[in-house]
Amino acid sequence: MAHRHPMKLNAEHVTHPAARRLLRAETARCADCRAEADAAALDDIAPDGVFASLLRGFALVRAEQWRNRHTRYPINVYDLAPPDEGRRMAIPTREVARLCVVEGRAGSNVTIQDALVEFSLLGDADQARVLDDVVDAILEEEG
Ligand SMILES: [Zn+2]
Repeated sequence: MAHRHPMKLNAEHVTHPAARRLLRAETARCADCRAEADAAALDDIAPDGVFASLLRGFALVRAEQWRNRHTRYPINVYDLAPPDEGRRMAIPTREVARLCVVEGRAGSNVTIQDALVEFSLLGDADQARVLDDVVDAILEEEG
């Protein structure tokens, strides 16, 4: 990494340091660091890896935004989405979101194993698209 982006970043659901670097690069609109961080994320889709950390953050952020008092768990992130938001997701993002399962009595846990497998089967362009959607969702509330 050539330089750092010492910016405030909440995104408390995203814990992996490389995943947080990616979010900081995007917040700083630094294309070089974003490209480097994207490559690192797409290169590490293990369950404890960079992309998994981002996907988990995506699922938890969306669960917080989209649940209401009628929500029952487990539910996948696509089914949780309001219809407009669901339609706005790219097709590969929908497929991955359908496999992100929010669970626990308060919907505070998320299972993404199947989503990671689905993601691993996507082509490069679709993976990049999903990664963009995931990052946008996490940063939507950062301001
Ligand atoms: Zn940078």
